[in-house]
Amino acid sequence: ATMPPLLSAIANAGRHGVLVKSAVVMERLGQVDAVALDKTGTLTEGSPRVTDVRPLPGSALHEGELLMLAAAAERPSEHPLARAVVDAARERGLDLPDAEDFTSAPGVGVTAVVGGRTVAVGAPARLLDDTLGTAAELEESGRTAVLVVVDGTPAGLLGIADRLRPDAAATVASLARLTGTAPVLLTGDNPRAAAHLGAEAGIDDVRAGLLPQDKLAAVREMESAGRKVLVVGDGVNDAPALAAAHTGIAMGRAGSDLALETADAVIVRDELAAVPATVVLSRRARRLVV
Ligand code: ADP
Ligand code: MG
Repeated sequence: ATMPPLLSAIANAGRHGVLVKSAVVMERLGQVDAVALDKTGTLTEGSPRVTDVRPLPGSALHEGELLMLAAAAERPSEHPLARAVVDAARERGLDLPDAEDFTSAPGVGVTAVVGGRTVAVGAPARLLDDTLGTAAELEESGRTAVLVVVDGTPAGLLGIADRLRPDAAATVASLARLTGTAPVLLTGDNPRAAAHLGAEAGIDDVRAGLLPQDKLAAVREMESAGRKVLVVGDGVNDAPALAAAHTGIAMGRAGSDLALETADAVIVRDELAAVPATVVLSRRARRLVV
């Protein structure tokens, strides 16, 4: 027997490195007319690096202690920023004590007890009421500033830089052409870093500082305006939006387990350009169906 067109399309998508979970998903992919993309780990490579380690003025901690405490607290997290912090500590040969009582809040950060000290690592704007000049300065250059709070006192900042994926701008342009709508960027990161990266990727509509439920609300709003939204994300923070979207695609290589389980399709190889390619495959298959 010849294979039904949607099944052939699934096989073809597989050759592009995209795991499409069902024929229904393969069909829906071709219907999308709006796109919402996550930033960290989706438009960016998701292999960020720590570029700055800055104890705050007046802090008793020196650079090594600050990085050690942050890395020990981050070790249980699967967030790309957490991996960057742990790698930076390892590269400096720092010994990481075990963390206890680890908790993580998607879009905010983590907390843990390290050697008797309570350590919080996360978005400065979520952990503090006032803005830190140093954080703003790091963010202006497109970096993500992460605040380290030790026993309730802000102790220092880490500057973390991630690169735009090489195929990000071309993918944004293809998706705009295919859907007839400019893609939007939905991120939990700060507005300064988000605008910097959005401009590089060719996205004007940048919505920053979003918690997981805010990403969900943004997608719901687009859907209730009649759009069939394709969400592309990688994090635990993207899971509600991936689930609510007409179609959700997760970045597979570094994506969180929850995102991979929630999404309708997974990009197994790390190429963002596989997203528009799969939309095209779906449309071709559907033309054969009808
Ligand atoms: P995005 O939406 O761009 O993928 P997230 O929602 O995952 O970003 O994270 C938003 C912000 O929350 C980050 O920029 C960072 O400030 C903070 N954050 C989240 N998780 C962590 C973590 N494990 N360590 C430090 N900061 C974190
Ligand atoms: Mg992400």
